[in-house]
Amino acid sequence: SVPGAAASIDELPIRDNLRGKSPYGAPQLTVPVQLNTNENPHPPTRALIDDVAESVRAAAAELHRYPDRDAVALRTDLAAYLTGQTGVAVTAANVWAANGSNEILQQLLQAFGGPGRSAMGFVPSYSMHPIISDGTETRWVPVFRRSDFSLDVEDAVSAIAQHRPDVLFVTSPNNPTGHSVPLADLRRLLSVAPGIVIVDEAYGEFSSAPSAITLIDEFPTKLVVSRTMSKAFAFAGGRLGYLAAAPAVVEALLLVRLPYHLSVVTQAAARAALRHADETLASVAELAAQRDRVSGELAAMGFRVIESDANFLLFGEFTNAAATWRRYLDEGVLIRDVGIEGYLRATIGLAAENDELLRVSTKLVATEL
Ligand code: PMP
Repeated sequence: SVPGAAASIDELPIRDNLRGKSPYGAPQLTVPVQLNTNENPHPPTRALIDDVAESVRAAAAELHRYPDRDAVALRTDLAAYLTGQTGVAVTAANVWAANGSNEILQQLLQAFGGPGRSAMGFVPSYSMHPIISDGTETRWVPVFRRSDFSLDVEDAVSAIAQHRPDVLFVTSPNNPTGHSVPLADLRRLLSVAPGIVIVDEAYGEFSSAPSAITLIDEFPTKLVVSRTMSKAFAFAGGRLGYLAAAPAVVEALLLVRLPYHLSVVTQAAARAALRHADETLASVAELAAQRDRVSGELAAMGFRVIESDANFLLFGEFTNAAATWRRYLDEGVLIRDVGIEGYLRATIGLAAENDELLRVSTKLVATEL
């Protein structure tokens, strides 16, 4: 028997705003085709594996000491990467890093949200935005997208004027729908937002739209661009997220970050992975081509496929999405039920994995949806 198992969560003195809530819950199942968490399906190259292993081995000699609390070398490397990616000359002072962009978002809400404050997002969007808001006791204000999941900017502007959120989340490309937000729309939102605007660019490398990083100099007291090495960068297991913003934003985050949050091992491994950015990102164009192929074939079968600028597709319409999700799983294909009625989300995988997704889809169409 498990010590303490008689106690239920309802008996614990947790904060009222956490009562009855569900944790983040993407199923982690071992099945042949895993297309449910938007990772890059390409494993690291031999050269990258060797570089990570050697770098971690060298760093292990320092494990009796705390890591560089400010991760300056890593932030310098990330700044160089962002400069190359976006054409904006960002420096280490503009960049902050943490264990995944989830931790970046949490630190942002610790500094700029909190009790008595609110965070707004345009839903459906990334499920962790409200969960991190709850965790930091920031009041969550959802604003609905159009029925085709696109963002109605004028509607957004009036919601901002009405609710005056301390933090505004804009996800671009949006998870789970795949739309990017054009710079002109971001500028419009930034010009009316009263507080911090977090542009969550977790899928930025997949997008053809320019990065919001180009707007930092125009909106230094508002704009934070959150990014991650988990998606295009094929480093989800390494846990490394980062942001670009004015240096003052980084100063604010130093007030809430836990000292030494990025281990010696994480910093060394991430720097090694960054040295192989070009070979890793070579898969981005191929994944985009696969996405367009899968999208075209699903549409040809009669599915409604939402146009995506990322490495996943939201598609439907299903009379019972949860039951259909189960049928894909029974066929060995794990996709994602993101809780949108009638729709499911599939990550773009390797060609053979996508073929499997399409095979099962054909079969489902043939029976019933
Ligand atoms: N933002 C968005 C939009 C995401 O989809 C994800 C991952 N699903 C994250 C942030 C967080 O990813 P990570 O913590 O691995 O950087």
